Amino acid sequence: RTWNFAAGPAAMPEEVLRQAQAELLEWRDARASVMEISHRSKAFMALAAEIESDLRGLAAIPAHYKVLFLQGGATLQFALLAMNLAAPGQHADYVLSGHWGEKAAREAAPYVEVRIAADARASQYRALPPRADWLLDSGAAYVHYTPNETIHGLEFADIPEVGSVPLVADFSSSILSAPLDVTRFGMIYAGAQKNIGPSGLTLLIIREDLLTRATRPMAGIFRYAEHAAHESMLNTPNTFGWYLAGLTLQWIARCGGLAAMAVRNRRKADTLYAAIDGSGGYYRNPVDASARSRMNIPFFLHDARLDSVFLRESEQAGLLALKGHRALGGMRASLYNAMPQEGVEALVAFMQDFNKRHG
Ligand code: PLP
Repeated sequence: RTWNFAAGPAAMPEEVLRQAQAELLEWRDARASVMEISHRSKAFMALAAEIESDLRGLAAIPAHYKVLFLQGGATLQFALLAMNLAAPGQHADYVLSGHWGEKAAREAAPYVEVRIAADARASQYRALPPRADWLLDSGAAYVHYTPNETIHGLEFADIPEVGSVPLVADFSSSILSAPLDVTRFGMIYAGAQKNIGPSGLTLLIIREDLLTRATRPMAGIFRYAEHAAHESMLNTPNTFGWYLAGLTLQWIARCGGLAAMAVRNRRKADTLYAAIDGSGGYYRNPVDASARSRMNIPFFLHDARLDSVFLRESEQAGLLALKGHRALGGMRASLYNAMPQEGVEALVAFMQDFNKRHG
């Protein structure tokens, strides 16, 4: 069988895909596919409510946070969050720990005065900016950071303390990978295509008082309050993606919930880092040990001339999508929720064998 290490769109749980396949033509008693029925039908509205309730249960989301399922990916939120959370002329603090934080700051800049409160560029994004060095301003509209940097492979182990300014986090690549204290955030957002479901769906969890902050004139489709007032059905949503996200949430619950996910994910990452660090320099991960991501693990061979051989042979061995992001080169293994320990063991066995054969 194959193991898919893609960074996103990423592997989905096999059980979810099989369930979707089994009910693809006739969903429940709709006598049609779930993607063929109106989003405003009783059946779909009930499904949407079920999904929200399952998510609230899994992630312990308090009642004063609104859950939205939108489109446009995390990239649209880079701009929308600035438009909605900051008034014209206000400033916001951004903490940069990799590619995606940089992009979030760039996309927000037309709508808010972006201040870089801290950045780890000097370390070439191999370490997190130490919390003591962050220049936060209590007058900022919000503080934005990226808890897990998908390309550089850095992750914050803890939620930073930022005082009373709302903390906004792009959780695209680590949402639902471990329990999270939602109350520490003003807003959490995530593209679905790593840990939630297929691409084309974006999850927002936003504290209710922030919904109505927007003061600038803008179209309804850009307004969080409008989406909230219409239960994420302001226009036709990605119904199939929403449904698949629902199946994925049920799968996480069957696995034991977020606490069980945290244990699985820690063990997988530890297995791969141990293989890299124990390879005597044959493989190398450059990230500071305290900042290493559990989800995305970039690694480099001691000789880059072997990269193409490694990629060809790993693919032949059923280990898919290990090519690193073009910005960094080398390899990257993404170990989201759907990747079982068995897949990581298969990768490690291949890496050890490759080392022996090409050492
Ligand atoms: N933020 C992070 C951390 C990501 O990993 C990605 C995509 O990989 C994005 C944002 C962009 O997401 P989207 O393609 O959904 O706009």
